[in-house]
Amino acid sequence: MDLIGVLEALSQGKTALGEIIDGLWECIGEVEPTVRAFLSLAAPEDLKRRGVKLAGRTLRGVPIAVKDNISTVDFPTTCGSRFLKSFRPVFDATAVERLRAAGAQVQGKTNLDEFAMGSSTEHSAFGPTRNPNDPERVPGGSSGGSAAAVAAGEALAALGSDTGGSVRQPAALCGVVGLKPTYGLVPRWGLVAFASSLDQIGPITRSVRDCALILSVIAGHDPRDSTSLPVVPQDYVTELEGGIEGWKFGLPKEYAPRELGTKALALIDRWASVIEELGGEVVEISLPLTEFALPAYYLISSAEASANLARFDGVRYTVSVPAEDVRAMIAASRTLGFGREVKRRIMLGTFALSAGYYDRYYGKAQRVRTLIAHEFAEAFQEVDIVFGPTSPTPAFKLGEKADPIAMYLSDIFTLPSSLAGVPAISIPGGKVQGLPFGLQLIAPRLEEMKLLRAAYALEGDLA
Ligand code: GLN
Repeated sequence: MDLIGVLEALSQGKTALGEIIDGLWECIGEVEPTVRAFLSLAAPEDLKRRGVKLAGRTLRGVPIAVKDNISTVDFPTTCGSRFLKSFRPVFDATAVERLRAAGAQVQGKTNLDEFAMGSSTEHSAFGPTRNPNDPERVPGGSSGGSAAAVAAGEALAALGSDTGGSVRQPAALCGVVGLKPTYGLVPRWGLVAFASSLDQIGPITRSVRDCALILSVIAGHDPRDSTSLPVVPQDYVTELEGGIEGWKFGLPKEYAPRELGTKALALIDRWASVIEELGGEVVEISLPLTEFALPAYYLISSAEASANLARFDGVRYTVSVPAEDVRAMIAASRTLGFGREVKRRIMLGTFALSAGYYDRYYGKAQRVRTLIAHEFAEAFQEVDIVFGPTSPTPAFKLGEKADPIAMYLSDIFTLPSSLAGVPAISIPGGKVQGLPFGLQLIAPRLEEMKLLRAAYALEGDLA
């Protein structure tokens, strides 16, 4: 059952919250020793007890899992980092506040690549999460814990964060639904910053309608986030059923290169025929700047990360290593507190921003970013939705991508829409090598309604 199915069953008295919670914990007991999706977990008795008072609200006391870089007052928020091992925020993130106001409870905090930097959850300081479809393989990342928990049946739904693909890619690799909203639609207040101009919180769910429901709860302006858009929240569930008759779907030829292999390409053909069976039209388009998204993204996101992570200095937050002077103390604390990948990004970002190189790297990357946004805007003059695979391959094996560039390449199809700030969703698109393979749909800015409607129409017909 998906979240909405559970809510309906609860409202009709067909089940009780206690039963739902017992079911989830039964699954957790079975799979969590292998999957390891959670870094912290609520006590089921507490959820049951507190749930009683929430029965009248929209979300009826159901537990929802939250990625561990999203602030919660009742759980530590570690960001998968030794630096924040026992850090406990003094406030809830806006998204969490809104979920609670709608009657949900925080089920626990899910594992991630340290500070959301990665595509496999192997960069977590607390050990990797494993893919419930095959424990030899990664769940994707950085929201790997959230995607694995939902895919394994441990959670009904989860929040993730997406800077360059971290909601969509793990959703694709685990076989669930993941949405990255338009930049600024969901407030970033309480989301620990990685790259502030790209970060977005998004839902990871079992179905498209669940995704629409959660988005309806968490979207909307918050004055505490200066980049939050002044938009009125909408109910994204109501128009899901309109269909896609007459809509034009663009498949960029850059999103279906021969290197994907015959299995994946055959699946993309299958998606195109399903779209046409449902009354849509498929046209080939071109987004020639796609290949520049990866270097532009890694320059911009690392530059912003190097500034954002400067706050972890051994004075505030948890890790602090005593030394002879302040400089040595900061260096020693960072040496101990940060993992390799985070250090790599800080060094790359600091270099890209250094005097004399600023324009050559960061400035140029920003110009590429603007051009990519224009390229999408132009494509959307011609088509309603852009589609293609979410990630070039299904889930890879743990340890398989030891070279950072090989890891970065798993995001080639999610990075362009992140840079452009447009919304994108990954839905299960069938199997490649017996493993889930995600279909990504991309829509113009603030067209989440359209995006979800297309995803809802295609969902379930793609295998
Ligand atoms: N995998 C990408 C990175 O490592 C994206 C991460 C994200 O979206 N948080 O930066």
